[in-house]
Amino acid sequence: EALNKIFVIKGSITVFCRIRPFVLAEKRRVSEPVSVGSERVLVKYGGTRKDFEFDKVFTEAASQGYIFVEVEPILRSAMDGHNVCVFAYGQTGTGKTFTMDGTKEHPGIIPRALEHLFHEACTGNSSYTFSMSMLEVYMGNLRDLLAPRPNSRSYEPMTKCNLNIQTDPKGLIEIEGLTEVQVSDYAIAKWWYNKGRRFRSTSWTNVNEASSRSHCLTRINIFRHGDASEAKSQLSRLWMVDLGGSERLIKTGAKGLTLDEGRAINLSLSALADVIAALKRRRNNKLTQILKDSLGDGSKVLMLVHIRPSEEDVCETITSLNFAKRTR
Ligand code: ADP
Ligand code: MG
Repeated sequence: EALNKIFVIKGSITVFCRIRPFVLAEKRRVSEPVSVGSERVLVKYGGTRKDFEFDKVFTEAASQGYIFVEVEPILRSAMDGHNVCVFAYGQTGTGKTFTMDGTKEHPGIIPRALEHLFHEACTGNSSYTFSMSMLEVYMGNLRDLLAPRPNSRSYEPMTKCNLNIQTDPKGLIEIEGLTEVQVSDYAIAKWWYNKGRRFRSTSWTNVNEASSRSHCLTRINIFRHGDASEAKSQLSRLWMVDLGGSERLIKTGAKGLTLDEGRAINLSLSALADVIAALKRRRNNKLTQILKDSLGDGSKVLMLVHIRPSEEDVCETITSLNFAKRTR
């Protein structure tokens, strides 16, 4: 159980860094500014070297399976009753969605986590039931990704959601009207997950741009029923979040609506950093509001910071790594 200790020792916030490999279309330079050790990243910038330390650094060679082995202990905490948040953070194109969703050949954390939860539920003394929700947050609006639709190809615009997030007496956050489906096995969970994924803004070419500016949240409610002598079940939550691109606006040349979108994202990301840094001081923001119960005492946060090691991204890389440093 050595892996289990990582999270106990390091406390409730763990930060990993994943470095994206270059794909074929990209030319690799002779000397790139980023070099890594197992727990640190060095970035050469303007004649200086900046040094960042993490709980773990995954190089370009790290496989999806290898990363999941390191993520597994925090999932076990969720099964043990902790609220857990796993975030993918980074500039657009650094591999956040690849890490969380992955591809058919290389499934990411979410499908692997679903499989893992059902597998774990079959072992041990407690019995478990699970339910699942998926939503997208975009400029303070929410879209319920699992909501029933009149036909399977219909596109639902984001719905305004200003008052629908409520706190119950136990401090749990309830999003009024959010679809929550019971998932009794992995196949069913996977079916719903694929359905939700299809309804992300990403899959609609006309709003493709929105994909990098929206946060996609998958929530698993874990009900632990204990042994026969325990009457009531305990609820813990596992959030897996693919955050909107962290890039600053200057580089993307954003204007008009896009600028507002960028501002909204930067605001929610910096609020998130504050939340994680202080775990108390919160700005009232949709994203942090939704995650409030899963960021508080006793909860566990895993932040996966993504970077691309190329020269032209060095400023964004440093910004992302600084953000990660702030949360740690
Ligand atoms: P983001 O969600 O951060 O914008 P994506 O996950 O969409 O980035 O990644 C951008 C592209 O790079 C995608 O085509 C993706 O398949 C590829 N990619 C990202 N990370 C990896 C990786 N570790 N190995 C192989 N391909 C990757
Ligand atoms: Mg993405």
